[in-house]
Amino acid sequence: MTEPAGVLKPGEAIGIIGGGQLGRMLAMAAARLGFRTIILEPQEECPAEQVASSHITADYDDAEALETLAALCHIVTYEFENVPLQAAQALVQKKPVFPPPKALEVAQDRLVEKNFLVECGIETARFAAVDSQQQLEQALEEFGGRGVLKTRRLGYDGKGQKRFTGPQDSPAGAFAQLGHVPLILESLVAFTAEISIIAARTRDGKVLCYDPAENEHRDGILSRCTVPSQASQSTIEAARDAAGRIMAQLDYVGVIGVEFFVMQDGTLLANELAPRVHNSGHWTEAACITSQFEQHIRAIAGLPLGSVERHFDCVMDNLIGDGVTSADALLGEPGAVVHLYGKKDARPGRKMGHVTRLQPRS
Ligand code: AMP
Repeated sequence: MTEPAGVLKPGEAIGIIGGGQLGRMLAMAAARLGFRTIILEPQEECPAEQVASSHITADYDDAEALETLAALCHIVTYEFENVPLQAAQALVQKKPVFPPPKALEVAQDRLVEKNFLVECGIETARFAAVDSQQQLEQALEEFGGRGVLKTRRLGYDGKGQKRFTGPQDSPAGAFAQLGHVPLILESLVAFTAEISIIAARTRDGKVLCYDPAENEHRDGILSRCTVPSQASQSTIEAARDAAGRIMAQLDYVGVIGVEFFVMQDGTLLANELAPRVHNSGHWTEAACITSQFEQHIRAIAGLPLGSVERHFDCVMDNLIGDGVTSADALLGEPGAVVHLYGKKDARPGRKMGHVTRLQPRS
């Protein structure tokens, strides 16, 4: 970075790499605080374009587009963890990039991520690197024939994964099936629940965490978040502590999402981290004083964090594929806060929007 970042002033611009729904919601939050946003996204008519100040339609690693982005904005952020690392590293020479590119490096590779979590003193599922069919068979035997095999890079929403639940699940051909790419085998965790914590860190190291959400997945995709979770106070404290340690280690600025498995005895195993706003934090826009989107913009702009106080108990459901057809009915439901992403085609598995149902706090 050439110059340290100053506090962003109204009218100044934030570059956002990625133009999906997270970029869209970040752009909306930025606009509310008086900032302009410039989206870098190859897809025309992307969800973020509809609400951002401008859109550079180019690949994320297009050198000329990155030059233009750096010239037009004051700081840069991103809405997804698979931003090409070289692009972030090139940008950081010209403009401050938050969260720091190191966070991308960690989150882009499940093996690097697991080793990083261990370095931070945070427990994870047992894991082993798998670079061949032979290594897979050996590791699976060591894991008692049970495990989840995942691609190290570019997996999301349960894609690029294969489960082994016992001797009936043969590993034969699995390395080829997942594309002859570097893999990681994780032990199959018998969790009682999944929770995630959304936390934010300012440029000067102040941290605030939202209440954790309890998450349910369907077909590998996040389906529902319930807040408050069933987690005990000590489990919640452990999740907050882990998020704080991860952020301190990365000298992190912005919002992060950290997913955990909760074990029978209340202890946690960290599953993964997302160096960005996270689907399991969407409920904050309806139930909290400050949404995760505004919090991220505040943190990266050098502003103080907003209150994470929660006014309501709530359940957030993703509207996936043609599930979005329920939106009209939901709009008539008292206590339901509907958010649609402006996507045209309701393809199966595509996140089209979400609804947060509010209840008075118990
Ligand atoms: P991931 O892509 O790692 O977030 O995995 C998607 C979902 O698969 C998680 O939210 C869990 O429900 C499940 N899962 C992932 N890893 C494991 C594991 N090691 N043991 C049991 N379930 C897992």
